[in-house]
Amino acid sequence: MVESFPKQFFMMFKLPLILACAIFSAHMACAAAADKYSVIPEPEKTELQHNSTRTLKLLSDQEAPTLGTDAYRLTVTPQGAHLASGGREGRIYGLATLRQLRDQLAGQPEGIPCGVITDKPRYPWRGLMVDPARFFIPTADLKKFVDMMAYYKFNKLQIHLTDDQGWRLPVPGYPKLKSISSKRKESMRNGIPHEGMYTKQELKELVAYCAARGIEVIPEIDVPGHNQALAAAYPEFFCFPNPDTKVKTDEGVTLHLICPHKPEVWKFYAAVFKELKDIFPSGIVHLGGDEAPLEKTWAKCPLSIQYREQKGMKDVHEELKEFIKKMSSMLAVHGKRIQLWYEKPWARANIYNKGDTVFTWRMGLTPSTITETKKQGLSLIIAAGEYCYLDYPQLPGQSNRGWMPTTTLEQSYRLDPAYGRPEKETNHITGVQGTVWGEHLPTLNHILYRAYPRACAIAEAGWSPMNVRSWENFRRKLADHRQFILKRFNYDMERTKENEPPFK
Ligand SMILES: [Zn+2]
Repeated sequence: MVESFPKQFFMMFKLPLILACAIFSAHMACAAAADKYSVIPEPEKTELQHNSTRTLKLLSDQEAPTLGTDAYRLTVTPQGAHLASGGREGRIYGLATLRQLRDQLAGQPEGIPCGVITDKPRYPWRGLMVDPARFFIPTADLKKFVDMMAYYKFNKLQIHLTDDQGWRLPVPGYPKLKSISSKRKESMRNGIPHEGMYTKQELKELVAYCAARGIEVIPEIDVPGHNQALAAAYPEFFCFPNPDTKVKTDEGVTLHLICPHKPEVWKFYAAVFKELKDIFPSGIVHLGGDEAPLEKTWAKCPLSIQYREQKGMKDVHEELKEFIKKMSSMLAVHGKRIQLWYEKPWARANIYNKGDTVFTWRMGLTPSTITETKKQGLSLIIAAGEYCYLDYPQLPGQSNRGWMPTTTLEQSYRLDPAYGRPEKETNHITGVQGTVWGEHLPTLNHILYRAYPRACAIAEAGWSPMNVRSWENFRRKLADHRQFILKRFNYDMERTKENEPPFK
């Protein structure tokens, strides 16, 4: 029954309730007030009283310096609600909770309980990653995505701007990024041309839109790999320039790694980083760093070979360490720190520096990565493939492109970012992130279909302490949230094997 949730669950519990109400109440909805709140993510502490309220008018909205900047206290009384918050973030979260309670009250006009919610996030980083490099996502669509993120108290949006299949960041002086790198002749052999490029103004507006909702936007420019789209426009940036290179039209890891020994490469990235500085106020740039087949590229590049000999470097990893360090220093000039996807061979080659933040993502490797990163003095964000890859199918039998594992809502919900380990072994974990990779998600509707309701589970994993979390309670709340989201965003979170929008 788990798999067909929420429909079956809805039918089992909600329908009899509605019928009972219809029988016992002449005209109105059910006469009984709700006896629980339906807040996702679950607040740290909820104290319910026996009375209830039918109004959630905001009666007071005050600063409470004794609370942390991301903490709030919401007091629900028969006359309305009182909000106290420790800072701007706490106020945004308190208002988000009030929004959900109002949505609950709209469906329960006989009332919801009075009580006190005292709340703050378990982790400071609660993100989602979107991938417009694969299928361009217009900013109007991203804003809708962001509205739903804010509803669930996410506070980081990572935007994967470049990859083999497309480049979406305009950079002055490099017009071929738009005329070549942002276009491809088809996607996954569908025969339909695809293109898209943001303007600087659109990205700035997106950043402002997110900031108003308490969400920081982190740009990702993937280096040295994942750069076939760049190679199509500027083959001279690569170890083995090939003027016939085209923007990639299907998925998979490529050998298009930029060459660190060409001055034009560094001139280009200086221009890229300047644009990032202008557009994104975040102090972070994600540099990717994943899936870079160095042995098949840099190891064979004549310039690289010569360089390693001159410098007495023993292998490509030493070269990579220097490359990342140089990129990092260029960004440091703009006041920015880097983040990277964690790769074990890189860690073994000592490429990460103490204090760096990395993301664990590869299926099954997170438990050992937690241990390793603790030893290395790194900060870690959990984007573990087995819980957080929100592009994977969520019900058995749905399209998996021939390789993706099914990750059910319950599986995503089971994520404890600390993996059940004690605080002293996991205090370097700063949060969680759901990643919505886009190779087969051509529209916002496809993105939302795969992202939700699993994103609700990731939100709760990042926010709520384990002692207040329960799968049963989450499912109860989610049945309500399906109605909240339908009314508020005109979006249905129902998931059945059949109702997925097809990929064309
Ligand atoms: Zn090279």
